[in-house]
Amino acid sequence: MFALDCLRCGWHGPDADLHRCPHCGGPITISYAAPLAVDSSRPGIWRYASRLPLHDQAHAVSLGEGGTPLLPAAHVGAELGLPQLYFKLEGANPTGSYKDRIAAVGIARLRELGKTAWAATSSGNAGAAIAAYGARAGVPGHLFTLEHAAPAKLAQILAYGPTVRAVQRLGYDPQVEQATWRNIQALCAANNWMMLVTARSFSPHAMEGAKTISYEVCEQLGERAPDVVYVPVGGGGLLSATWQGFAEWHAVGRIDRLPRMVAVQACGCDPIVQAWTAGRAVIPIDGCSSTISGIQLTAPPDGDLVLRALEESAGWAVSIPDAETYCAQADFAAREGIFVEPAAAITLAAVRADRASGRLSGDELVACWLTGTGFKDAAAVQRMAGERRVAQTTVEQILELVGGEETL
Ligand SMILES: [Zn+2]
Repeated sequence: MFALDCLRCGWHGPDADLHRCPHCGGPITISYAAPLAVDSSRPGIWRYASRLPLHDQAHAVSLGEGGTPLLPAAHVGAELGLPQLYFKLEGANPTGSYKDRIAAVGIARLRELGKTAWAATSSGNAGAAIAAYGARAGVPGHLFTLEHAAPAKLAQILAYGPTVRAVQRLGYDPQVEQATWRNIQALCAANNWMMLVTARSFSPHAMEGAKTISYEVCEQLGERAPDVVYVPVGGGGLLSATWQGFAEWHAVGRIDRLPRMVAVQACGCDPIVQAWTAGRAVIPIDGCSSTISGIQLTAPPDGDLVLRALEESAGWAVSIPDAETYCAQADFAAREGIFVEPAAAITLAAVRADRASGRLSGDELVACWLTGTGFKDAAAVQRMAGERRVAQTTVEQILELVGGEETL
């Protein structure tokens, strides 16, 4: 059915409860014996069950994840001289982000391995997704989050019922980040729990769910890949997984060209962009001054996998100031009718920057991964509304507006 391969030393072995190569400690990937077959009778990500790491489909758990829209830009593409600009609306997933694809596969894997609970770290979106799928499967969970997680994200997580603890200085100190993961691993090993962190370095099986975004986009574009794909990058798992998805679609001959991948980070938290610019491996940065929730990782676990994908795809990396991201978020809502969280909007800000610098010629078919819905970050929503007041009116005064368009 499927086996494990090391991305560093080439080790190959049968599927096992591993998240790292037993030989060298490198990241592992899944290799499938069966051909890639699309099962049109199943919805969402499970169309691609032949390429998801589950031995018995009876363990699958679903809330309707995947199958999200790919929309052409209505206005901002033309304004940028980029007529082929597309948005993948991952906020349309059941808990409002692409993490549902990963959580569905991760919780299915948990059931298959007979684990009794899950433990995860998350700033919000992954936590909500894992908690929702855990609740659906009837499995208890333990979430370790940031002290300053966005309140709306935290409220959503709490609604699904897991135990939640905020880890002091998590997200702002690379040593705390790495120690947290280490300690949760020990906790899981001692209790037969499943560690679910949305990074290949920790949860290679679950991360397979994310590559279905690329499969879908190729199908939605009529069996072609975009020329350039803009991906918000925190830990790096999404870019790495979706690059793999395109590569797999290409390997079976369903597309004839691969896209260039672009890693987009916030200026105040961009260890991967720094590494790419300097031509070296990723090293953790000392702190994070960006306020863009969801991509605040100072020690990105899949950072080197991102660099590898950028190199293989002839892509690049770009950092965006928070102010430009908030501006793009407001434009998404007002100009496109698309309500996204800032971490998703950062892709449009990057497209703008690359169009302005000439890096994008305008002829490319460009796709942006819009990772989460705007409801996820209430403070950012409030910022978009700004100083705008809602005028009061009486029922009678509505008639005074008749024929007086200027007062509307
Ligand atoms: Zn290895």
